[in-house]
Amino acid sequence: MLIVMKNNASPEQISAVEEEVRKLGFTPYAIPGSQRTAIGVLGNEKQVDSITIEGLPGVINVIHVSRPYKLVGREFRQTCTTVEVGGVKIGGGTLTVMAGPCAVESREQIVSTAKFIASVGAAMLRGGAFKPRTSPYAFQGLCAEGVQLLAEARAASGLPFVTEVIDEKSLEVCAEDADMLQIGARNMQNFSLLKMVGQSGKPVLLKRGMSATVKDLLMSAEYIMSEGNEKIVLCERGIRTFSDASRNTLDLCAIPYIKAESHLPVVVDPSHAMGVRDKIAPVALAAVASGADGLMIEVHPNPRAALSDGPQSLDFECFAQTMKQIAAVAAAVGKTIASAK
Ligand code: PEP
Ligand code: MN
Repeated sequence: MLIVMKNNASPEQISAVEEEVRKLGFTPYAIPGSQRTAIGVLGNEKQVDSITIEGLPGVINVIHVSRPYKLVGREFRQTCTTVEVGGVKIGGGTLTVMAGPCAVESREQIVSTAKFIASVGAAMLRGGAFKPRTSPYAFQGLCAEGVQLLAEARAASGLPFVTEVIDEKSLEVCAEDADMLQIGARNMQNFSLLKMVGQSGKPVLLKRGMSATVKDLLMSAEYIMSEGNEKIVLCERGIRTFSDASRNTLDLCAIPYIKAESHLPVVVDPSHAMGVRDKIAPVALAAVASGADGLMIEVHPNPRAALSDGPQSLDFECFAQTMKQIAAVAAAVGKTIASAK
């Protein structure tokens, strides 16, 4: 349920409504707007009897939200949310390109990649320090050292970075230094981790689980936002289907669907969707044309020697070419490429 206050509602009237919501056994969540404040009612599974609230001074309207997600839905906020990450904006009409290796492997690898991607227009660096690998014998990441190297690459390139957290320990390590925390596909429904990143207050990149519906993704975002953290960017990265033409099936339809249902920005990761280097550019362009607010692309100085996801990583030259095509399609849909400070 959403309680809409009058334009001129006083702070005392807003507090009185919040108090009434608490009395009913629910949690109020105030959303100040440019014109008026709305108060979300959290914790109600079913419709709340709103008669007492409707009669309180300062209340103009009570809307019964029909979706299972509330805070992340359009009913809650009509305007698009822009998430700021280390001075870079995601959402709000620009296209933000995040790029970098699947995993941080060495100082030379991450610093050279950061400098190169910055020189051709990427606004953010990506790189995994804690890697959730399918095989326990595969490279698991450089962990804390990897986060340190990402911070060095940020200093050398001016690009803020996003890196994945997989549990409480990795969150502790990343919470201090990282500009944005990534929740990977495998942890999209790790609800205790979602609550923890919500409490961290850091910007979060939430990737869609490989067998998750878009509604599941939005419910996971709701977990983060219900902890008071509104800095959430959703990421479509392909799902498992019967198609074997690509590593995963990129759900392009999810982009306009999410844009209609939610106010949160959406980025697309064509690398994990496609899985092979030479076919990543076309789907990246399709994602931009479909309304994505950003892209996340894996880039490695020497993909053949990469310790993870080499086959889908672009080399520098290929990334530079792809950026030119991305800029052209972005311009065609009225977007400019976001840049770092
Ligand atoms: C990644 O971004 O490197 C990654 C592991 O992605 P996903 O969680 O989408 O598989
Ligand atoms: Mn990867």
